[in-house]
Amino acid sequence: MALQVIEPATEQVLAELPQAGVEETDEAVARAKAAFPAWRDVSPNERANILRGLATAIEDQAEELARLEARNVGKPISDARGEVGMVIDTFLYYSGAPERLLGDTIPVAGGVDFTFREPLGVVGLITPWNFPIAITSWKVAPALAAGNTIVLKPAELTPLTALELEKIAVEAGLPEGVFNVVVGPGRVVGERIVQHPDVAKVAFTGSTEVGRRIGALASESIKRVTLELGGKSANIVFADADLEKAAASAPLAVFGNAGQDCCARSRILVERSALDRFMDSLEEAVDALRVGDPLDAETQMGPLISADQREKVASYANGDAPVAIRGSAPDGPGFWFPPTVLCPVANDDRAAREEIFGPVAAVIPFDSEEEAVRLANDTIYGLSGSIWTRNGARAMRMARAVEGGALSVNSNTSVRVTTPFGGFKQSGIGRELGPHALEHYTELKNVFFAT
Ligand code: NAD
Repeated sequence: MALQVIEPATEQVLAELPQAGVEETDEAVARAKAAFPAWRDVSPNERANILRGLATAIEDQAEELARLEARNVGKPISDARGEVGMVIDTFLYYSGAPERLLGDTIPVAGGVDFTFREPLGVVGLITPWNFPIAITSWKVAPALAAGNTIVLKPAELTPLTALELEKIAVEAGLPEGVFNVVVGPGRVVGERIVQHPDVAKVAFTGSTEVGRRIGALASESIKRVTLELGGKSANIVFADADLEKAAASAPLAVFGNAGQDCCARSRILVERSALDRFMDSLEEAVDALRVGDPLDAETQMGPLISADQREKVASYANGDAPVAIRGSAPDGPGFWFPPTVLCPVANDDRAAREEIFGPVAAVIPFDSEEEAVRLANDTIYGLSGSIWTRNGARAMRMARAVEGGALSVNSNTSVRVTTPFGGFKQSGIGRELGPHALEHYTELKNVFFAT
């Protein structure tokens, strides 16, 4: 059956595509397997050149890709442009890797001992719908740089930029069979990739629920896995912080990408003595948020991805916790939902425990640094988070005490091409980006050479 791709801002059909099943997945794995030996043996310098060429080819089509991504996901075009810029930077960054995959020499008796970083073979990449092309590049670039070949399964809701990337890669000179995209259902194509005997590793980004299933399936063949999963991150604001700055940046830290962001700081922990001042500034910032047409360069928040997602988000916004602030959103068509702030929320409320993945923030007051740490860590997740304070020693204490893989102090940013990104606890296993990602796309080999 054909797959209809819907534009969330209009509810119109954006594209119709054929869907793959098990047979097409097996064919893609076979192509990737056949292409592996030659790609592994391409000289490091040549592989670096091909990746740089791919970055240039993406740059040449950056605006088209950004528009396609904005329309398919419903994300603001300014965000989509930034994300495509990050894709280019990611390929450029990892184009430096083929010539820098260094090993160690280790002092031993009776000979010399050294290590190599070997590619794994065929790697399966499974991606979500919230940052499709950016997350794709975080996996594709290090995987290719290390000499692997790829079978990529994008989310069914947002497959379009992955398909464009596949075309661009071939035009840029990536050898046939190295990069294969398969569009189809997670339960069919995704699970086949995870269970296929010729796939050496699976890198997955998506929900904790699906990640758990992938981990279980992969364990049957001791397949390597990295999992980038959900979050319920805390934005911790102390009374001694620059409150206006913290409040001004809090809305986009949770309502950016309409809240469909694994790093969303959806629990805003505020020191009680500053709560009223913080909420006044937050209300101003939420009112100023520009919600509307994703293709308008001024827009800061678009619609949700689907009607199902909107229904799920509404169930949290209309739960037990009181609504303190409700922003505006356009009327239909489109899967719109207004930015909503709940306050006060108890940390055991459903809205504070579960990943909502929509523009709903829960404000949770606290009275001491110890309580802030306890609340921040009282979650199954540990992805990102922020600490706002002017007290440097407290900032350092908090940064060490909060269980999260990507924290920031006096900032709400999480992701940089050059720094590791990933989760503690049920937010995942492994790291993407920075030099650390390369460890997850290579196997360490030790060689002892008797002299
Ligand atoms: P999802 O888990 O529903 O789907 C992700 C991908 O997995 C899709 O391609 C889907 O088709 C596929 N899939 C579904 N079932 C599968 C199965 N049984 N076997 C194999 N593959 C399967 O997630 P989503 O709804 O697309 O994305 C939202 C989730 O992703 C949120 O939980 C969010 O926090 C998470 N996310 C995490 C990060 C991170 O880096 N930690 C980044 C972005 C999104």
